[in-house]
Amino acid sequence: MESPRYYSHVLIIGSGLAGCSAALTLADQGYDVSLLTPLESLDGGNSEKAQGGIVFSTNKEDQRALEKDMYIAGHRYNFGKAVRFLATQGGEAVQKMLVDRLHVPFDKDPEHPERWDFTLEGGHSAPRIVHCADYTGEAIMEALHAAILRHPRVRVLTQRSAVDLITTEHHATTTSYRYHLRNQCVGAYVLNNKTLQVEPHLADLTVLATGGVGQVYLHSTNCPWAVGTGISMAQRAGVRIANMEFVQFHPTSLFHRDQPRSLITEAMRGEGAHLINKKGEAFMPRYDGRGDLAPRDIVAQSIVSEMLATGADHVFLDTTHMHCDVQERFPTVYESCKKIGIDIRTQPIPVVPAAHYFCGGVLVDQRGRTTLDRLYAVGECSCTGIHGANRLASTSLLEALLWGVSAGNDIAGVLAGRDNVSPRVLESIPDWESTGNEHNDDPALVAQDWVSIRHIMWNYVGIMRTEARLRRAFADLRDLSEHLHDFYRHTPLSEELVRLFHGCQTAYLITQAALRNKRSLGCHHRDE
Ligand SMILES: Cc1cc2nc3c(=O)[nH]c(=O)nc-3n(C[C@H](O)[C@H](O)[C@H](O)COP(=O)(O)OP(=O)(O)OC[C@H]3O[C@@H](n4cnc5c(N)ncnc54)[C@H](O)[C@@H]3O)c2cc1C
Repeated sequence: MESPRYYSHVLIIGSGLAGCSAALTLADQGYDVSLLTPLESLDGGNSEKAQGGIVFSTNKEDQRALEKDMYIAGHRYNFGKAVRFLATQGGEAVQKMLVDRLHVPFDKDPEHPERWDFTLEGGHSAPRIVHCADYTGEAIMEALHAAILRHPRVRVLTQRSAVDLITTEHHATTTSYRYHLRNQCVGAYVLNNKTLQVEPHLADLTVLATGGVGQVYLHSTNCPWAVGTGISMAQRAGVRIANMEFVQFHPTSLFHRDQPRSLITEAMRGEGAHLINKKGEAFMPRYDGRGDLAPRDIVAQSIVSEMLATGADHVFLDTTHMHCDVQERFPTVYESCKKIGIDIRTQPIPVVPAAHYFCGGVLVDQRGRTTLDRLYAVGECSCTGIHGANRLASTSLLEALLWGVSAGNDIAGVLAGRDNVSPRVLESIPDWESTGNEHNDDPALVAQDWVSIRHIMWNYVGIMRTEARLRRAFADLRDLSEHLHDFYRHTPLSEELVRLFHGCQTAYLITQAALRNKRSLGCHHRDE
């Protein structure tokens, strides 16, 4: 059966905050957009998981202080132009898109209801974060998705998993394109998860908004599709990627064999909770004089060392002697622990560090342009340079919003100038050639490959990295990658295979970058 061919002016891959902000910016200016998501609805990204809030800085003095805070968190490995752009333009994006356009109900100060309830987070020198209780991401995405679904100019295509970018150099069949110096992105090959056909989605401009990479690790707070799909596609198309070694880990996530990891807030340690090992010993003072209140990366490293020393797969957070009513102060944690049969008033919480945020990705400028013509990248899959070697809390939602809006505006300018891909180029793009007919996508094989990738990444390319561990990971992932390439060629595509293929390549790229960078910096820790 012939697969349908789609064409749109703008193709956006991913329906999180970054992709939807770009889509709405364009649609509001009268441009048609196609928005792809792998699930049955627009939900399912990391954006709706965000709890803490989003930076909202509007006065010049605070913006200068914000820049300074970002440099400190990022170990001065940040890109100055991008940091300044976020600090000076971010407030306007929050005001225009989230407050004026979407009416997101951010909390107000109970004593001064005309003001926002600005809160403070680790690394910030002033309270400048707005929030909706502890479900900020959910509140933002509910309003944004509703606006997208109502908009006549946005065509939402669900159950679509992007497989590969289409470029003139790699795919155009007309001989003359092989001799063009300028390679261009003209869309993507996309798996329809329902029909299992790979559809060419042709476009004048393509935006990658596919989110983070956390799921290539054994423990992660991220959504299931956070396997670096945009980064892996971009790399195959020859696009420049950067800072791939910088994976931020959160020290405490809830450990349970059958449940996804959820965050256990660091504020609990601030209020007297202690980390203990399986023998009930408080181990943090052995690693750092500041004990449980040591910085995030030191706590995460200490937990891993303790797990290795005791042979345990998790440690515990003892919340039974805290100086507050733990149920009232931490209702979200109380409820998620209760669901797995733990009463945090009387029992310690099993916890483990988890991959949380990715600072690297597809290199972009302030407009979201990549090194490949007609290709943009926004949000967590991109590397704007604002985070440097580590992220300052609550700047990532703002980065996704601001770069989504900025890319949307830039694309609107390109379309207004009628700079479309020529019909001859589009005609010269072939349908996807499906060579695979050996139905061997045995779920046991896919599951085992994921177990291998996640354990390799956790044990060798995790919180503490050594040359020997990284070399071992490099060799193992290279073999697995080759094996998967073969598998991919002989097996018809499925959603699981697409995700596995992207994830394996992302893991390999992180490992390569970590091996190359011999210097400990920010969240890249070499333990030699
Ligand atoms: C538990 C948690 C708490 C957080 N708390 C905060 C916070 O308080 N403040 C803050 O600033 N940041 C926070 N973050 C980080 C922040 O949520 C993310 O950085 C941000 O939401 C990323 O937005 P995004 O649009 O780039 O990606 P996402 O929201 O993850 O969206 C990516 C989209 O791409 C889709 N996709 C992926 N691959 C494909 C494919 N091949 N084809 C089609 N679609 C695809 C996904 O399904 C998804 O729709 C938190 C993250 C987590 C996990």
